Amino acid sequence: MLTVNSYSATSATEPLAPARVDRRDVGPRDVLIEIKYCGICHSDIHFVRGEWGTAPYPVAPGHEIAGIVAAVGPEVTQYAVGDRVGVGCMVDSCGECSSCRKGEEQYCLKGSTLTYGSPDKDGRITQGGYTTHIVVTEDFVVRIPEGIELDSAAPLLCAGITTYSPLRRWGAGPGKKVAVVGLGGLGHMAVKLAHALGAEVSVLSQSLKKREDGLRLGADHYYATSDPETFEQLAGSFDLIVNTISAKIDLDAYLSLLAVDGTMVNVGAPAEPLAFNVFPLIMSRRSFAGSAIGGIRETQEMLDFCAQHHLGADIEVISADKINEAYERVLASDVRYRFVIDISTLA
Ligand code: NAP
Ligand code: ZN
Repeated sequence: MLTVNSYSATSATEPLAPARVDRRDVGPRDVLIEIKYCGICHSDIHFVRGEWGTAPYPVAPGHEIAGIVAAVGPEVTQYAVGDRVGVGCMVDSCGECSSCRKGEEQYCLKGSTLTYGSPDKDGRITQGGYTTHIVVTEDFVVRIPEGIELDSAAPLLCAGITTYSPLRRWGAGPGKKVAVVGLGGLGHMAVKLAHALGAEVSVLSQSLKKREDGLRLGADHYYATSDPETFEQLAGSFDLIVNTISAKIDLDAYLSLLAVDGTMVNVGAPAEPLAFNVFPLIMSRRSFAGSAIGGIRETQEMLDFCAQHHLGADIEVISADKINEAYERVLASDVRYRFVIDISTLA
């Protein structure tokens, strides 16, 4: 067993602090990864603060992991020492259910093993990427293509795949009007990806503060949701709305922006329930849907797509001792557009 440095949460209210976590011995099909960078996802904050239920403390969060293979088990076939690799939100699943057989391990009927805070097969609680090393079965490792720097690749492992998967499933492409609600970590990747897929992209943000950034990232239009005229002007406009907001919103107002047959996909995961009126759905055959990350095969497809289109996340790299400060800035919607921890500062 390897014991490595981490930044971990010990309760819902204490700041994260330096700690140590254990990593299992490298098994026959395992890959040991030396983590170079780990993104900070808003989910890390929801989770460690107990907003989604009590977390199993102590826990090192982090599921946007980019690093270099440091060792492989004797039966590993896909990776070798020195390879550039990533790990996202899952590290295992049953492998046998209908979802897993389709390559949609995130919908494993027995529940996939999440990268942190999840009971692992050995009974221990998984520990995430705010650590120097991780051991993962090769089936849950993806390759980071040459051409994307490891630091701007890290957020693709969650923010990238979580937005790519619904954009693909609901057909974002030429001739489609796509709205991205919330320009944070997920939102800024949704804009880049929807633009690269050829859709006409609008950003709906609380204010016009980040308008120039939104247009630079690939949006064609940018609107402030604080302006009631926005909702009048855009009524019935969008084929697809991807909602990335981490807080409760007035869903009826957003559903009214969908065209006939349009779909609003919620990827934002606020703790509070969201309520809506069914009439806007019924009267225009609109849909309201949810979507969780993406499967391993689709995550690799997304990384290859990003390499082809020269896409990575827009990041602010921080040292580990700035994690708590970064959390506060994420909560204040003051992120441009993903914080990424330089893991060498944990060594
Ligand atoms: P983030 O960087 O904090 O971005 C969220 C954005 O939402 C903010 O930048 C802000 O955009 C907007 N926003 C925040 N509070 C708001 C409020 N009270 N009213 C209106 N708008 C508000 O967070 P993230 O990392 O992108 O994650 C977003 C959400 O997705 C989180 O709930 C996270 O847990 C969830 N998530 C889900 C999945 C999945 O698989 N479904 C995966 C990853 C994350 P503006 O400043 O532009 O208004
Ligand atoms: Zn995430």
